[in-house]
Amino acid sequence: MNTEEFQNAILNWSQIHGRKDLPWQTNINAYSVWISEIMLQQTQVQTVIPYFKRFMARFPTISALATADINDVLHYWTGLGYYARARNMHKTAQLVSNKFSGQLPSMIEDLINLPGIGRSTAGAIRSIAFKKPAAILDGNVKRVLARYGGIKGWPGHSATSKELWGLAEAMSPSSQTDLYTQAMMDLGATVCTKNPDCKNCPVKSGCAAFKKGEIQSYPGKKPKKVLPIRRCCFLVISNNCGEILLQQNPLMGIWGGLWMFPQCEEISMINSKCEFMGFKLSTKKILAQRRHSFSHFHLDYYPIYIRAEISGAHLKNDRQDQLWYDPKNPKELGMPKPAVKIFEDLR
Ligand code: SF4
Repeated sequence: MNTEEFQNAILNWSQIHGRKDLPWQTNINAYSVWISEIMLQQTQVQTVIPYFKRFMARFPTISALATADINDVLHYWTGLGYYARARNMHKTAQLVSNKFSGQLPSMIEDLINLPGIGRSTAGAIRSIAFKKPAAILDGNVKRVLARYGGIKGWPGHSATSKELWGLAEAMSPSSQTDLYTQAMMDLGATVCTKNPDCKNCPVKSGCAAFKKGEIQSYPGKKPKKVLPIRRCCFLVISNNCGEILLQQNPLMGIWGGLWMFPQCEEISMINSKCEFMGFKLSTKKILAQRRHSFSHFHLDYYPIYIRAEISGAHLKNDRQDQLWYDPKNPKELGMPKPAVKIFEDLR
């Protein structure tokens, strides 16, 4: 199968089997392609759909996103995880408003200089929204090309990545780039999945892994690493009005800009932590340990419910980065998943 045959097979297959009704496939423009690509980076399509719809309804244009409060943006991202994506999108929207008159640029070099936009996202924006030649290499396309080209190794290794990009570039057409890019993503998402449906694959006659009967060897697995474990307690402090104390994390770092419960390292430190914050404990209840996993460590945490002898009015030092949050009348705040879960339990 030569390059042209590959492209034609992919394009013909997508006419019948490609996905055509995803929310970012209607009214296609650079902004919607960008938002959908960023959301899809670490998250399944079915999870992304409601987030995408809500996000686009609230921030329908780049300028709406650029002028929004970061707290608002993080609120609309709550539950999607990897919050650096939302912070980078906000920064990029502001840069695009200032440097590119509110229009995302079409050149790869300009796109990859914007926060949070990598080579594959840049390729998707250029090929789908601007219909210009560009390769993409997202998770789905990596899987298709590693198998089709018989490219060994974990795609996170630079030598393997280089080889995959070489193949992605070589296979990309100079016309119908939007259809081809979408078709490759669709093939990876619906046919060349973890357990692929090779008999219905339009490029099986040229696929190296299929011909060798070694599909499960491609792409190579990520080398296993034992993640370290960190521990902490989340202090769910309620005042006499039933409001819960939240503190905002600094913008840089884990859960940057998100609102979270005060923390302490050990259960034995709770009393002194509360004293330090100016509260007198009335009752406390320690719940079972839970785990939240990040890409580079596990966080084992205890949610601890605390009734403090305090009225809603008082907050030590009147700090801007802490507030009493009323779960019955919730404000729009960005929160990490463990906080959302704990509030669900409280309800
Ligand atoms: S033949 Fe199978 S393994 Fe090869 S690209 Fe098609 S679905 Fe993927």
